[in-house]
Amino acid sequence: MRCLATIPLIALALLTFLTGCTTNPTTGRSSYYALSREEEIAIGQQSKPSMIAEFGGEVARADLRQYVTDVGMRLVATIGQDDPSMVNLPWEFTLLNSDVVNAFALPGGKVFMSRGLAQRMTNEAQLAGVLGHEIGHVTAQHTSERFGDAQRTGLIAGIGSILVGATLGVDVSGLANQASELTLASYGRDQENEADALGMRYMERAGYNPIGQLQVMQILASLDKNGRPPEMLSTHPYPEKRIENIQGKLRNEYAATQNNPNYRTGEQEFRANFLSKITIAYPPNREEDPALRTFALSRGLCSADCAHCVNN
Ligand SMILES: [Zn+2]
Repeated sequence: MRCLATIPLIALALLTFLTGCTTNPTTGRSSYYALSREEEIAIGQQSKPSMIAEFGGEVARADLRQYVTDVGMRLVATIGQDDPSMVNLPWEFTLLNSDVVNAFALPGGKVFMSRGLAQRMTNEAQLAGVLGHEIGHVTAQHTSERFGDAQRTGLIAGIGSILVGATLGVDVSGLANQASELTLASYGRDQENEADALGMRYMERAGYNPIGQLQVMQILASLDKNGRPPEMLSTHPYPEKRIENIQGKLRNEYAATQNNPNYRTGEQEFRANFLSKITIAYPPNREEDPALRTFALSRGLCSADCAHCVNN
């Protein structure tokens, strides 16, 4: 009989694959999570620069980037109640300088949101809704779970050897590329509902009105109807079903947060500290984005003498 030490590493990886269902403390759900915590962190760190490059770089203004980071970290401060180890991930919130309407997350705590989405929001609770949803994909280990599914169905060839290499501290760029592709593919319906639910959980804990989650879904749905489907709905699909689920939660689980001053939407702060500044820094163009320009003007986000809004 062969002793364990002589079993090749690849066979050990396979053994883990066959038997390695674990329970995620945040979701309470048992599944096969193909990546170790170290691999998740390495993938996030290695993929981040190419994701930023693909979406036009970061927004230049530090105060706008910091605003998004502050809201994100307020939510992160609440996730330890489910799983203390998640708080210590190298969390980073990146505001992408892109007109597309999108947000996504890489495993290991890297969250991205486009300027095009941020400029269509009207309050801080909506921002918390998007960031909370993306944080939920990370804490629920959805990418790791999708790697597991991909292995089962043979979509990722040769992952065993890459995984072994990564475990031994070798370059994980092969995995990172695959993670980027998976990140920009669409999540399943169960994962989307789970991320919405986790986002609302974090919002409530951080003192945000979870209605922001509903409002941001309604913004995406209205963009979809008006003939320019936001990219976010291709990575995060099933808007109608999700709206129904979120409405149900607001009526039941989160009923006490509605019309309750302890749970804020943060409309004034969002407008003063973020929306008016980003509108002036990145004025929506009349030809390229007439709907966004109308939105900005109708809310008086530019003063009457603002050359951008009058002439652009
Ligand atoms: Zn999602």
